[in-house]
Amino acid sequence: MDNALVLFSGGQDSTTCLFYALRHYQQVFTMGFAYGQRHAVELECRLAILQEIREHFPLWAERLDRDVVCDLSSLAKLDDNALTSDADIEVQPGALPTTFVPARNLLFLSYAAAFAYARNIDTLIIGVSETDYSGYPDCRSQTMASMEQSLSLALDRPMKIATPLMHLDKAATWQLALELAGEKGVQLLVQKSHTCYAGDHSHFHAWGYGCGQCPSCLLRKKGWEAFRPSH
Ligand code: ZN
Repeated sequence: MDNALVLFSGGQDSTTCLFYALRHYQQVFTMGFAYGQRHAVELECRLAILQEIREHFPLWAERLDRDVVCDLSSLAKLDDNALTSDADIEVQPGALPTTFVPARNLLFLSYAAAFAYARNIDTLIIGVSETDYSGYPDCRSQTMASMEQSLSLALDRPMKIATPLMHLDKAATWQLALELAGEKGVQLLVQKSHTCYAGDHSHFHAWGYGCGQCPSCLLRKKGWEAFRPSH
């Protein structure tokens, strides 16, 4: 396969997608988004991950092409969700978590498609998952299939959306990273990727940095413990 663009936030899921892309595509572009996220530390983490790949994964370094960060800071003005405002992070039964950012993935994919179109890239890779997740409707396979169709129609060119994590839980995502990038890749994820909603990058655990309390940390921790049970 030829080229792909990875929507790369610097979190565990999108870093695993980057590993996937570097294994399967000859030329890999990356795109990140500054959208006023409370955990903006992930933007620094993504650069550290790219740097690490360039230094320690020589075969992959050759495949890694341009990285772009799009400024979508106006997104934070549209809604008082817990990721772009100081609203509490809450998960209530029967409701979407307050960390849901409406239309975020649709905007991200549209920007990615605009970049991809200009460079004859026909595959976008995004780390969404239906499993073990907070029930975000913009992470479902149906949404992705519909978006793939909309982008292809709107560009008058096939635009594929690849979702390698769609049916994996967090433990299986750790396992996939191991298969794609070996123990070195797992350690890169632990040391450099950031998923904590609270933006805590000062407390270090076996599974990486984070507050250890927010839904994102709890999910990452639970997945790690299933992947690497302590004896
Ligand atoms: Zn956290």
